[in-house]
Amino acid sequence: MKVVSILGSTGSIGQSTLDVLRLDRINFKVFALSCHSNIKLLAQQTIEFQPDIIVVNSANDREVILTYLEGKANPDILFGPNGHKMIVEADEVTDVVAAISGAAGLTSTYHAALKGKRILLANKESMVMAGSLIMRQAELSHGLIIPIDSEHNAIFQVLNGARDNKAIQKIILTASGGPFRNFSAEMIKAVTVEQALKHPKWSMGRKISIDSATMMNKGLEVIEASFLFQLPAEKIEVVIHPQSIVHSFVEFVDGSLLTQLGCPDMRVPISFALGYPERIPSGVQGINLTEHESLSFSNPNHALFPCLNLAYQALEAGQARCVALNAANEIAVEAFLECAIGFMQIHEVIAEVMEGVIPQTNDELDAIIDLDKNIRIRSHEIIAKRVKS
Ligand code: NDP
Ligand code: MG
Repeated sequence: MKVVSILGSTGSIGQSTLDVLRLDRINFKVFALSCHSNIKLLAQQTIEFQPDIIVVNSANDREVILTYLEGKANPDILFGPNGHKMIVEADEVTDVVAAISGAAGLTSTYHAALKGKRILLANKESMVMAGSLIMRQAELSHGLIIPIDSEHNAIFQVLNGARDNKAIQKIILTASGGPFRNFSAEMIKAVTVEQALKHPKWSMGRKISIDSATMMNKGLEVIEASFLFQLPAEKIEVVIHPQSIVHSFVEFVDGSLLTQLGCPDMRVPISFALGYPERIPSGVQGINLTEHESLSFSNPNHALFPCLNLAYQALEAGQARCVALNAANEIAVEAFLECAIGFMQIHEVIAEVMEGVIPQTNDELDAIIDLDKNIRIRSHEIIAKRVKS
C-alpha cells in the first residue's frame, strides 16, 4: 500500500490528486493533507479521506477548521512549515505530492528529498531554485522524483527510468502558447488580468495561469527539465503545439523521436506518478484520434514572449540567476494580478532584477532562501519605482 501526504491538497493539482485517489481506496492511504487559506475545502477533504494529520497555517485556523469538521473527523492538526516537515518526514509516508505553488514549496520538497521519499513533483519552482541540491539529496537518500508536470512526465514515461543521456540528442517541450498565442504586439500590451487567467486548454491555479500566458511557465519548465534529466540548455527546445495532446518529445541519437499523448487533463500524469511503476486508472478518457484531423507544431514567438529567453539566460548563468528569475517572476505576477503593472512589464521587471544579481552558485538551502528573500525586496522596489513614474 502507498501512504501519501499531499502538500497543497486544496489547489488544482491537489484536488486532481484526490480525484485519482478516490478511485482506489484500497491500495492508497491518504496520510496527510494541507492547505494555506482554503480551510473550508480542507475540512471537506478531511471528512471524506480521514487523514491522520492535516496542516493549516496557524492556531487560529485550527479553531476554524474544528468548527467545519463538526466532529466528523479527528486528525492531528499541525501548523505551517513545521507541520509540512512532519507530514513529509513521517516514517509511514511513502509518497509525497509536492503541489504547493511557488517558492513556498521549496523547503518541504527539500525535506522529502532528504528523507528519500518518492516525490511526485508538481512544484516546479523548487527545482528552478534548488534543482542540483534536490537531485543530489534525493540520490544520496535513494529517493525517487517522479515529475507530475505533464511535459516532464511524458519525458519520464519515454525514458522509463533509463539514465543513458548519451543516447539523447535533445528533448522538445511542447507548449500550448497560452491565450495570447495569436495576438499582435499592440494587442498584447493591453491584455487584462481576466484574459490572462483564461487558459485555452488547461484549468490551473492563478500563478501558473499567468506564467502560461507570458510563457514563463515554459521557461521554468526548461530549467526544471535541465535538472531532472541532467541536460544542458542547448539540448532542450520548445515548440508550440496548441492542441496540447502531445506532451513533449525525446529525440535520440539515431533520429528516433518518441512521445506520450493524452488528453490535457492533469489526472493523467498524476495517476502515472501515483501508480509508478504500475499503471492505474486516472478517470480520464483516452484520445479519439479521428477527432483530431491535424496536430500542429511551430516555433515560439520570442519577441511577444520574452520570458522564455530570460529563463534560458538564467539557466546558462547559473543558480543565483535562476533564483532571481523565479522570485522576480512571483512578485511581478502578483503585481500584475493586482493591476499595479501591465502584462508586458512583467518581463521588464524580471530582466532588471536579474541584471543586478551576481551569477554565482551556493546551493545550501539557507543561502538559497536568503537570496530569494533579498530578490523579493529588490523586485518590490523596482515595481514601486515603475508605478510612481
Ligand atoms: P493552486 O494555486 O491551485 O494551488 C496551490 C496550493 O498550494 C493550494 O493548496 C494552496 O493552498 C497552497 N499554498 C499556496 N501558498 C502556500 C503557502 N505559502 N504555504 C503552504 N501552502 C500554500 O496551484 P496549482 O495546483 O495550479 O499548482 C501547484 C504547483 O503545481 C505549482 O508549482 C504549479 O507550477 C505546478 N503545476 C500545476 C499544474 C496545473 O495544471 N495546475 C501543471 C503543472 C505544474 P490554499 O488553496 O488553501 O490557499
Ligand atoms: Mg507543464
